[in-house]
Amino acid sequence: MASLEGARHGLAFASGLAAEDNVLRLLSPGDRVLLGNDAYGGTFRLISKVWAPLGVAWTAVDLTDPDALAANWPADTRMVWLETPTNPLLTCIDIEAVAAVAHDHGALVVVDNTFATPFLQTPLALGADVVVHSATKYLGGHSDVVGGFLALDDDELAQRLRFTQNAAGAVPAPFDCYLVLRGVKTLGVRMERHCSNARAIVDMLVGHPAVDRVLYPQLPDHPGHAAAAKQMRDFGGMVSFTLRGGLAAALEVVKHTEVFTLAESLGAVESLIEHPGQMTHASAAGSPLEVPDSLVRLSVGIESSADLVADLEQALTHTP
Ligand SMILES: *Cc1c(COP(=O)(O)O)cnc(C)c1O
Repeated sequence: MASLEGARHGLAFASGLAAEDNVLRLLSPGDRVLLGNDAYGGTFRLISKVWAPLGVAWTAVDLTDPDALAANWPADTRMVWLETPTNPLLTCIDIEAVAAVAHDHGALVVVDNTFATPFLQTPLALGADVVVHSATKYLGGHSDVVGGFLALDDDELAQRLRFTQNAAGAVPAPFDCYLVLRGVKTLGVRMERHCSNARAIVDMLVGHPAVDRVLYPQLPDHPGHAAAAKQMRDFGGMVSFTLRGGLAAALEVVKHTEVFTLAESLGAVESLIEHPGQMTHASAAGSPLEVPDSLVRLSVGIESSADLVADLEQALTHTP
């Protein structure tokens, strides 16, 4: 798995959040972590509800603007936590540009590469210090395992992370490792199909009368398009969109698909649909990471693209 990220070191964990927690243990009370203002809800919860009471400070910032980041850099920052593309708005962050600012200030750069996978993006080559994965998603790929992974080059940092993992015990079960490695064997062919199916769906959603905005990094009007085109080999299997009919319309769409299953999680062979505001991102309500309530997120699977497009088209006929 480390070799896929081009990394010297790899550590496998019981879950993505266990891997994240192990990285956050590099911080001490009084240190600050900067996190993108559009991060995975669980990452936000771990930092703001578990680590903040122990004295780790955090600030949610707009990482799409490296100049503003440099100009507003809090002096106590030791780590920048970056996700690209982000969940669920699919914002893309220029890893190289953010790493340059962070390294100027002596901070570590952690990149959550769960959405892109090493097939589409290799952050260590762009200046990241640590890559984090939830292996529960694309790496496993079959919705039957929970796992996490860290990849990094620095020998001393790897030794510290290994010590903490062994001391705190967030290790994976052997059978779960077997399942993730089985998934990784088909990662390349799955990712190609996830991407081409996502493109077919985006083509249908763009210009659909019930749809307000389609969020997909390949679209030239997507705010993350330039960064994605620069650092990704393709644009991924996650698609989000907002509905003109607001919350009510979003809830009708997620209720009426038949091929897409209404569920959290993502990155597996089967297509999933969800309402981030009431499901994956409910814990971000009222925070800087709150998401629009008309938002629907798709994890596009590897089924027939015609079936997926037809299913969404029929679900969209139910919008008020
Ligand atoms: C799911 C997810 C995680 C957490 O992983 P678990 O394996 O569920 O603990 C972290 N980051 C991202 C982007 C995720 O989608």
